[in-house]
Amino acid sequence: MRKITTLFASVLLLSNFTFAQAPKKSSSSDIYHSLEKLNFLGKALYLAAHPDDENTRLISYLSNNVKAKTAYLSLTRGDGGQNLIGTELSELLGVLRTQELLAARNVDGGSQFFTRAKDFGYSKHPNETLKIWDRDLVLSDVVWVIRNFKPDVIVNRFDHRSPGSTHGHHTSSAMLSFEAFDLAGSATSYPEQLSQTSTWQPKRLFFNTSWWFYGSQEKFDEADKTNLLSVDTGIYYPNLGLSNNEIADVARSQHLCQGFGRLTSRGSETEYIELLKGDLPEDKTNLFDGINTTWSRIDGGKAIGDILYKVQENFNFKNPSAHLPELIKAYKLLQNSKDKDWKEDKEKELLAIIEAVTGLYLEASATAASAVPGESIDIAIEAINRSTVSMQLQALELNPDEVVIDGTPLKNNVEYKNTLVLNVPASENYTNPYWLNEKGTLGTYTIKDQELIGKPETPRPFHVYFTLNIEGEIITIKKPVIYRYSKPDKGELYQPFEIVPAATAAIKDKVLIFADGTPKQITVLVKAHKDAVEGSVTLAHAIGWTIDNPTQAFTIAKKNDAQTLIFTVTPPSNQDESYITPVVKINGQEIARELITINYDHIPQQTVLMPSETKVVRLNIQKAGQHIGYIVGAGDNVPESLEQIGYTVHKIDPATISNASLKKYDAIVMGIRAYNVLPELKFKQKNLLDYVKNGGTMIVQYNTAGRWDEQFENIAPFDLTLSNDRVTDENAVVTILAKKHSLLNFPNKITNDDFNGWIQERGLYFPKAWDKAFTPILGMHDEGESEKKGSLLVAPYGKGTYIYTGLSFFRELPAGVTGAYKLFANMLSVGKSTINTDKKLND
Ligand SMILES: [Zn+2]
Repeated sequence: MRKITTLFASVLLLSNFTFAQAPKKSSSSDIYHSLEKLNFLGKALYLAAHPDDENTRLISYLSNNVKAKTAYLSLTRGDGGQNLIGTELSELLGVLRTQELLAARNVDGGSQFFTRAKDFGYSKHPNETLKIWDRDLVLSDVVWVIRNFKPDVIVNRFDHRSPGSTHGHHTSSAMLSFEAFDLAGSATSYPEQLSQTSTWQPKRLFFNTSWWFYGSQEKFDEADKTNLLSVDTGIYYPNLGLSNNEIADVARSQHLCQGFGRLTSRGSETEYIELLKGDLPEDKTNLFDGINTTWSRIDGGKAIGDILYKVQENFNFKNPSAHLPELIKAYKLLQNSKDKDWKEDKEKELLAIIEAVTGLYLEASATAASAVPGESIDIAIEAINRSTVSMQLQALELNPDEVVIDGTPLKNNVEYKNTLVLNVPASENYTNPYWLNEKGTLGTYTIKDQELIGKPETPRPFHVYFTLNIEGEIITIKKPVIYRYSKPDKGELYQPFEIVPAATAAIKDKVLIFADGTPKQITVLVKAHKDAVEGSVTLAHAIGWTIDNPTQAFTIAKKNDAQTLIFTVTPPSNQDESYITPVVKINGQEIARELITINYDHIPQQTVLMPSETKVVRLNIQKAGQHIGYIVGAGDNVPESLEQIGYTVHKIDPATISNASLKKYDAIVMGIRAYNVLPELKFKQKNLLDYVKNGGTMIVQYNTAGRWDEQFENIAPFDLTLSNDRVTDENAVVTILAKKHSLLNFPNKITNDDFNGWIQERGLYFPKAWDKAFTPILGMHDEGESEKKGSLLVAPYGKGTYIYTGLSFFRELPAGVTGAYKLFANMLSVGKSTINTDKKLND
């Protein structure tokens, strides 16, 4: 069982946290807390670049102590970077991290926004970031979110004044916020937005600083603090039974794919906030000082406040439903307010409190997890009033067309059940993450519907409207159609109800390498998402590639069953790269997407439709040697890639390494960070180096400097000092330093063309100093930096060859980058004179 299950369980113990999709069930204390928040009319927006940048201590403090409506605007969804709990990367990682942010906000009480910006990878400077993002587009999104959310105060996580000192995305987020603060209030900036929203001028802009930004605690202590506010984010909330920092730590622990599961902490903690724009508050512990945050700030609010402050003051913890008449009265008054924005916000909060005080439980649950356009599906309705308040169910309405007029009394603790039929329109859109529906650019997602920008998720298309007569007042409560089910090993679960295509198809491998002209058989898996699906799959492909029998029929009887189709693909005779796509055709409709589900305990299940495509690469590659020994480090897909070009890869258990055991290999390759993660290598390093001395080839891929046992002063047979040098620009010019070296000439001739089409970066943790035995092969550098020559170093040792490389082969090979394959084949062939030897291996 995954470790995260325990964390999930510990979160559940904190009764005031619920998970997305699962309905919130409130105790009297929770209701009181909601009432306090209802009576605070102020908003704060926290702003940074990535999931995990946000300071959950301050967000929780603003949400739970100040009681402000608090949101985090993360410019990106964190699509770059790594995943410590599963295989999702890039867009799918963005979907996972979006949900982790929502899970964090569920804990700390905030809400969540995004822009169209993509996390395209590490960026050293905001100039680069803002070029790739399309500065104006992302700035317009920040302005849009400010105009829609209408915060009184904005807090930046990063300093807009220090470009180059942190990730370029970070500084950019602060720079854009600094600018958007003024633009949001000006009718002349982004005027096209004003048909759908209105201008908004926030009152104050802050920077959430700390001693770290000053360089040291001493420097911070000495600094002028005139413009600094400070708050205690370690405050204890008796009503919740939790300290603010405990809540913040649980929220932060939702970022599991980044390995942020952590212990909770308690005790006073000071957070510093520097004023950047707006007037300096007199009370330097209150971000909202001088801003009216009472009901009197809105039209008709005074009378509402008179009622609701009294409810809060005299709150009846034993019987919260006693307050229903006053809550209804306030609700009626709120209907007449002309303040559209606050009315909308506060109506939602007030309805949730009315539901909670009466123990009302309303649910609309589909009888299956998904449906396809044109299908009809039953929706189970549950309604129960768990109070003595008189209540009647007047009407049940399910969009698009079904209405049930009922009129049943909802008596205290007597369950009402019904079934409605949802007729999904044939033209219904799939419930895919909206930002993945169109092909984006490197820096931004393409979103055509302005209304969707900023939203964390695709709005759910189907809702049931419960119209109730509560003590004479007609109130309608809207609930999304969800899917509730149970698993014997998990208990009750909720997940979003999805609209999906009738069938989808995918090729298992996302990259297929053809080392020569030999045809390959490829397997296409067709999956049905409803009963009785019939159709065909055609492999769409580029000219030059040949597919025997490119259209094949399929018939699947049951929903969720799959059928396998085999196609034979012959590559062109020359080097080539293209894509093949399995296209499903059903009754004339074409589906070229595959369906991927993301399943973890800490988030609701996600269903994503991605373009179904496989990159096919025809190489003209020569190689020497056949049997490769691979020592797996932190984990990479290099072995699978080498198998695709015809090598036989043997994974070596470090415990079994001996001089005799290594002899049989044509080369030994160390997986990424092997020395960082395999302490036992320290006892095997001598065997490995002896193997080289006796004529073997050893290739060491990147390791992180210094993070190994001190006995590993050196991982090479000669001096080699690793560093943090990296080249993040995947298009950085490569200078060939050792043109005549066999590594660049045998068996494949390597030229500058072989460095075209690389992805994400050139490489990382390059050595910065080395013994003269090493020959540096390549030079490269990021813009504005000095030449780095440590990306590929070769040294003869005894009769063999030792190679150290920080080039990102672990990214390039799985992505099918031609030049990276040729260079790797040359590294494996070093010291050999004949190509394609087929040595017998005695295992
Ligand atoms: Zn970040």
